[in-house]
Amino acid sequence: MSTALLRTIQPNHFTLLGTALLRRTSRSNISVRCSGSQATTTTTHEAKQPSQSRVAPKNHGSNKLDEILRDYEAVIGIETHVQLSTFTKAFCSCPNNYGSEPNTSICPVCMGLPGALPVLNSKVVEFGVRLGLALNCGLSLSSKFDRKQYFYPDLPKGYQISQFDIPIASGGYVDVDIPLEFGGGHKRFGVTRVHMEEDAGKLLHSDTGDYSQVDLNRAGVPLLEIVSEPDMRSGIEAAEYAAEMQRIVRYLGVSNGNMQEGSLRCDVNVSIRPIGQAEFGTKVEIKNLNAFSAMSRAIDFEIKRQALLYNQGQEDQIVTETRLWEEGAQKSVSMRKKEGLADYRYFPEPDLPEVILTQDYVDSIRATLPELPEAKRRRYEAMGLGMQDVLFLANEASVADYFDAVIGEGAEVKLAANWLMSDIAAYLKNEELSINDVKLTPKELAALIAAIKDGTISGKIGKQILFELLAKGGTVQGMIKAKNLVQITDPAEIEKMVLKVIAENPKQLEQYRNGKTKLQGYFAGEVMKMSKGKANPPLLNKILVEKLNAKD
Ligand SMILES: [Zn+2]
Repeated sequence: MSTALLRTIQPNHFTLLGTALLRRTSRSNISVRCSGSQATTTTTHEAKQPSQSRVAPKNHGSNKLDEILRDYEAVIGIETHVQLSTFTKAFCSCPNNYGSEPNTSICPVCMGLPGALPVLNSKVVEFGVRLGLALNCGLSLSSKFDRKQYFYPDLPKGYQISQFDIPIASGGYVDVDIPLEFGGGHKRFGVTRVHMEEDAGKLLHSDTGDYSQVDLNRAGVPLLEIVSEPDMRSGIEAAEYAAEMQRIVRYLGVSNGNMQEGSLRCDVNVSIRPIGQAEFGTKVEIKNLNAFSAMSRAIDFEIKRQALLYNQGQEDQIVTETRLWEEGAQKSVSMRKKEGLADYRYFPEPDLPEVILTQDYVDSIRATLPELPEAKRRRYEAMGLGMQDVLFLANEASVADYFDAVIGEGAEVKLAANWLMSDIAAYLKNEELSINDVKLTPKELAALIAAIKDGTISGKIGKQILFELLAKGGTVQGMIKAKNLVQITDPAEIEKMVLKVIAENPKQLEQYRNGKTKLQGYFAGEVMKMSKGKANPPLLNKILVEKLNAKD
């Protein structure tokens, strides 16, 4: 029956001890986190939204509401669940593949059949250490798994394997830059803990609502849960915190961080308190946030809702509850009230040994960490780039790597940033491609920037060939030669074309000379057309103005 397999266990990295002791944990310092049972309603998937890290600007309500809001401070904490990109599940060898037919990636272990024994996937530990280090946490060299017991139809074991009193990592922080359009500034938010756990299955509800079916493909998929300190004060801060988590897990390669697929799920706790009050207000949890912009709006909605209740003397109506954000209606609705704290009766998982890390193992993982988003932003800032450029370039590791390669080829920093942020970004968006898909190499983008800068080709021609290079590849020099694109900088040649255009447009010339000087643009366009875009623009305009204003 047991399908427990010894998979990819690297004894040098952490030691699996024979038996874990059933230790009674002290319950005095327990802070039971009330994220309730897994909200696994699959419900409707939101329409596909582009991955984005920016959030919509705050909706400003009436002046009256703004006045009320000024008297209160919001306190926001976030629990983030990250699904790990491991090949197999956390405690069995079933493939961890999103989107496969229901109940095709299952076995006795993840189905929770009696007698099946879990075996820890060493990648889960490695990813936990990677994320813990990236979030500036202290690591527990000795941690353990615990059973969190609750009943739900998508959890056949009747408990979730999680980490309770000794998480793998704790006491860290994350740095974010708030975009200028939201006030700017650098913020640091505390990370309470990172722990390893398993996901539950999923309920598939029938359209008629008559019955539900259980898909256990997701049961046993490894998760890291990141719990923040209650350090955020607005929807924007919370959304930027979550966006930074997404960046970090993607940079680290521990998860695809895809919110629509549920690979990155954020539950947000919001309370408010009158300014100056030390105690926290009643916490309300918001779920179903599958985009950063939705998170920001949902939190601001909740802050306003609570502030209005306070203001009307109805703060007793702010109760511990879970609310669901309805993106369509732009409001939250109560999902369930919480009757006191849930008691999950945690106890150490007897079927799994303690997780012992050696310092060498931790150090070896630290040595493989990539440059993280915060370090990149500071490096780009030090290069003299503005915050908008910095945030754009550091948002995706692949874009940052490309940018670094372009400037490594000697391109001017600001010019390279401009090309990536404008024309290339627009192309990627239109074609739904990533920077890794384009045929233009960083070396050739540097060559293109240089060819425009030294006047070999005009900026206009540069943009034209950019799209061909992006789609088909090739070299800038090869294309300039093949298409005879070298910029015309010979004044005599440009003068010839200017005179020809003036001679062919006597009517416009008369109008120009009678004071309709904005026709200069028309003449310039005609000359440019005649030169097939190759005339040097400053020279063209200089000669054109001379000829247009010449007294015959
Ligand atoms: Zn399995």
